[in-house]
Amino acid sequence: MKLTEAGSPAPLANPQALKGDGVGCHSGAEHLLAAARDAGKSETLDQYAKDYPKGAHDQPQSMCPAFGSLRVGLRMRRTKIILSGSACCVYGLTFTSHFYGARRPVGYVPFNSESLVTGKLFEDIREAVHEQAKPEELDALVVINLCVPTASGVPLQLLPKDIDGVRIIGIDVPGFGVPTHAEAKDVLAAAMLRYARNEVAAGPVAAPRNGVNARPTIGLLGEMFPVDPVGIGMMLDPMGLAAGPVVPTREWRELYEALDCAAVAAVHPFYAACTREFEAAGRRVIGSAPVGVDGTEAWLQAIGQATNVSQALIDASKNRFLPMIEAALKRVPIKGRITLSGYEGSELLVARLLIESGADVRYVGSACPRTAANEYDRQWLESKGARVQFRASLEQDIAAIEEFKPDLAIGTTPVVQYAKQHRTPSLYFTNLISARPLMGPAGAGSLGAVINAAINNQSRFDAMDDFFSGVGQNHSAGIWEDIPQDRPEFREHTRRHVIKLMKKRKAEEMI
Ligand code: SF4
Repeated sequence: MKLTEAGSPAPLANPQALKGDGVGCHSGAEHLLAAARDAGKSETLDQYAKDYPKGAHDQPQSMCPAFGSLRVGLRMRRTKIILSGSACCVYGLTFTSHFYGARRPVGYVPFNSESLVTGKLFEDIREAVHEQAKPEELDALVVINLCVPTASGVPLQLLPKDIDGVRIIGIDVPGFGVPTHAEAKDVLAAAMLRYARNEVAAGPVAAPRNGVNARPTIGLLGEMFPVDPVGIGMMLDPMGLAAGPVVPTREWRELYEALDCAAVAAVHPFYAACTREFEAAGRRVIGSAPVGVDGTEAWLQAIGQATNVSQALIDASKNRFLPMIEAALKRVPIKGRITLSGYEGSELLVARLLIESGADVRYVGSACPRTAANEYDRQWLESKGARVQFRASLEQDIAAIEEFKPDLAIGTTPVVQYAKQHRTPSLYFTNLISARPLMGPAGAGSLGAVINAAINNQSRFDAMDDFFSGVGQNHSAGIWEDIPQDRPEFREHTRRHVIKLMKKRKAEEMI
């Protein structure tokens, strides 16, 4: 779809495609996907299909993917986000972002059936962008197309690239093209890297806030606990290297610093588009991370080789840090069988640490895909007897609990809920595990105490289960004189009725 001329509405390529059902993640992706292709978004969607390959289960059950992009933008200084999408999606996304402590508003350009179908929505977005692009406040302004505007072909690529020095970045982050919120972080971080790479090619750019590092740096790809980059820097020091910025970055000028690194460590394995940007800038990208003794040993070797560090200096770092890591792991051994699952992308790294601490890890489920960056971790885990499931579904995570009967289940909210209902101690991956250091000596000692405390909670679960035994569950939960009968046919009837009603309302909205 093209603008006829500046300022005039761009009619949608395929407004009819959005009629009827299928206008949200609740009602299937196929309809929206077909509509987006008809509306000229095939190139973007084909790239997403390559970057974020779907697996045995193509839609892990996690939060709205766009949250990943939103979070990356909200954590950057002097950056503003404007969402373009259905009000219900925007409500959910802003609610979640404020729940996670965003301290600034999220912009929103609303639409109705008329502004969507006539192309007025794009004009409204352009107007909002011009209004909000204040160079005294912003380095970058990001517009995110959610599912419906992507499916209807709202052409964010036609926005100006720059308004008075404020960079304008428009991205499509539909749930039917980007499977997880983790991968949506990649979409925005890569769009920013691409923009910054073009700026570097065009001429001088701003220096890092603390000046240019005298040593070659290793860029760190993937959000991590704040102590981890410090620990990584200490391990790089004997090799004459320094830790570079973490991508996604916290401010725009760090993007230049990241592009200027000697090599990149893909600590989180799902940053496919960022990897492409770094490779286009001539940087090598190394997978895995310095976790545990084996992981740190291999990582230091790979980083040293990629940056032409002598074997003597690589060995100097290994000789200094590997014994410290080994000692830290031994100080808090973990005894027990564990299943682990999550959607952060660091699941394989955590599992490695647990195994090196002595845990019997049987299952590792990740909502993220198998990539070159996690191949080494997969092989290591499988060599230790753990089953690794990429693009894991909730059903697979729960089946693993049933199969392996762990002493501790680490997982997402519904996995933990299931485990607790079955008197199995459990821990939330996102809040309690991934919010800890994992790398080097600090990471080696960080998990043992919390894991052991959780495993030792078994007796409390048994006591609670005994206390509440006999109160029924699901439809018969509670104390009854006459235990209620389950009537699944009523539920099915209501479900069909509600779906029909929703389809009718959406069809009416689109006319
Ligand atoms: S934008 Fe997110 S919440 Fe809205 S329909 Fe798409 S995936 Fe679902």
